Amino acid sequence: MIYMDNAATTRTAPEAVEAMLPYFSEYYGNPSAIYSPGCAGKKAVNQARRAVAAVLGARQEEIYFTSGGTEADNWALKAVAEAYAGKGKHVITSRIEHHAILHTCDFLEKRGFEVTYLGVDGDGLVDTKELKAAIRPDTILISIMFANNEIGTLEPVSEIGAIAREHGILFHTDAVQAFGHLPISVEELHIDMLSASGHKFGGPKGSGFLYIREGVKLPSLLHGGAQERGRRAGTENVPGIVGLGAAAARAAESMEERAAKAREVRDYLIKRIEAEIPCCRLNGHRTKRLPGNVSFCFQFIEGESVLIMLDMKGICASSGSACTSGETDPSHVLLAIGLGQEEARGSLRLSVSEENTLEEAGFVVEELKRIVAKLRKMSPRYEDFRQEAFLSGKV
Ligand SMILES: *Cc1c(COP(=O)(O)O)cnc(C)c1O
Repeated sequence: MIYMDNAATTRTAPEAVEAMLPYFSEYYGNPSAIYSPGCAGKKAVNQARRAVAAVLGARQEEIYFTSGGTEADNWALKAVAEAYAGKGKHVITSRIEHHAILHTCDFLEKRGFEVTYLGVDGDGLVDTKELKAAIRPDTILISIMFANNEIGTLEPVSEIGAIAREHGILFHTDAVQAFGHLPISVEELHIDMLSASGHKFGGPKGSGFLYIREGVKLPSLLHGGAQERGRRAGTENVPGIVGLGAAAARAAESMEERAAKAREVRDYLIKRIEAEIPCCRLNGHRTKRLPGNVSFCFQFIEGESVLIMLDMKGICASSGSACTSGETDPSHVLLAIGLGQEEARGSLRLSVSEENTLEEAGFVVEELKRIVAKLRKMSPRYEDFRQEAFLSGKV
């Protein structure tokens, strides 16, 4: 198997699995208990908290563990809306956010909040001038993702943070794709809240955290016990948190080295696909880009068909379109960068990690060439295109 779907989830790092095991079998006590197997859990949770805080240059008291990126995103948006409604009811986000943000914004709109969805340019970048123009006296929150999960574009977070700070508006960023892969300093970037998810950087699924800057008043999303300093009720997912902490520590240790390896495979794939497959286009920014993201549109064919044929060769990838109840809607991200419906349907995302080799990448390119050519042979749209090109003397 060749796994190139790391933006969907990563393999749980062996270091993380090993760190987790004793917290299932030996130290299973409730971290709120006073006997020692419980205390061991509590200590381990706080050690993980320190590991995460260190990666962000944050204080450990500013890290709150959640069930994943989705909960962290929901919490940040809903809690700011609730706590700051007295100041205003306007929120700014972008059109290319993950559904954990966009559907939460829908929810807020139904409850009387107004949301401005900033457009992006052809590379997927938010325009900071447009952001400034969207700010109103009643704006309470700017939520813009650190890096896009489909096309890999890195947003101008530093500028956005500075603008938010200057206007006294809270800034949240969904950093699920970036945390553990790229250096992030919450101080330098003026980030007030940041979401991350364990399973996107070598930790287990169902683990994540929200960074909340000290002084930001954020009510609880879940009500119950006094865990996480009274802000996130529910018995801690001790093994999950320990695994996330181990993955964060590993990420911090070898971030540059792993990113460089992923970039090498990424750039090799991009270069060969562009050179060897006609009528394709790279999605996302060429340089302001996640180390592991390769996203292409192939004209005249369906991305879904490419995926099925890649799967038959043992290659795991993803398309830009999310399957909803059997229908394939083109991705909101690809439409936002200006692709037409048909073009957006022909998309393919290969998200690589440091574990992928150039040899694997070479095999994927060869298979992809064969698959794209085969599908185009069956495509009436491609036949029309060839006819037209022939008649106009281009071929
Ligand atoms: C995966 C992802 C999420 C959701 O995280 P989960 O832990 O799976 O809930 C949110 N935002 C982005 C950008 C993602 O890639």
